[in-house]
Amino acid sequence: MADCIFCSIVAGEVEAAVVAESDTALAFRDQSPAAPVHVLVVPRDHHESAAQMALVDAQGLADLFALVGEVAEAEGVVGTGYRVLTNVGRDAGQEVAHLHLHVVGGSPLGALLGPRRG
Ligand code: 5GP
Ligand code: ZN
Repeated sequence: MADCIFCSIVAGEVEAAVVAESDTALAFRDQSPAAPVHVLVVPRDHHESAAQMALVDAQGLADLFALVGEVAEAEGVVGTGYRVLTNVGRDAGQEVAHLHLHVVGGSPLGALLGPRRG
């Protein structure tokens, strides 16, 4: 998709620190890490959300989570634990429209949500 930074990374047009990949997905370090381990796992094809991808490519979505497992192994957080999250839309603060799973860990992550703000 035009003007999509993650499509550009998948295409090799923009550099990223790749930590794992498969035929259908790519995992690379977040440029602004929120935890010692912060990797983004994205499908090579452009999808807006996991829910939308599930409707058109359920196997691809399963492949995406399989790569999450490889990332967790490679980053050494299987034993200590990690969190997988994906923001969807404005209220979640989604910045990049291309589906991405944040894989974060490497230190205690605290509660999932901060105090309610609205
Ligand atoms: P969102 O808020 O959409 O869930 O998360 C987008 C994430 O992508 C942010 O954590 C941001 O730091 C990361 N990000 C945005 N642009 C780039 C980029 O060009 N390279 C990398 N490695 N990460 C990016
Ligand atoms: Zn894209």
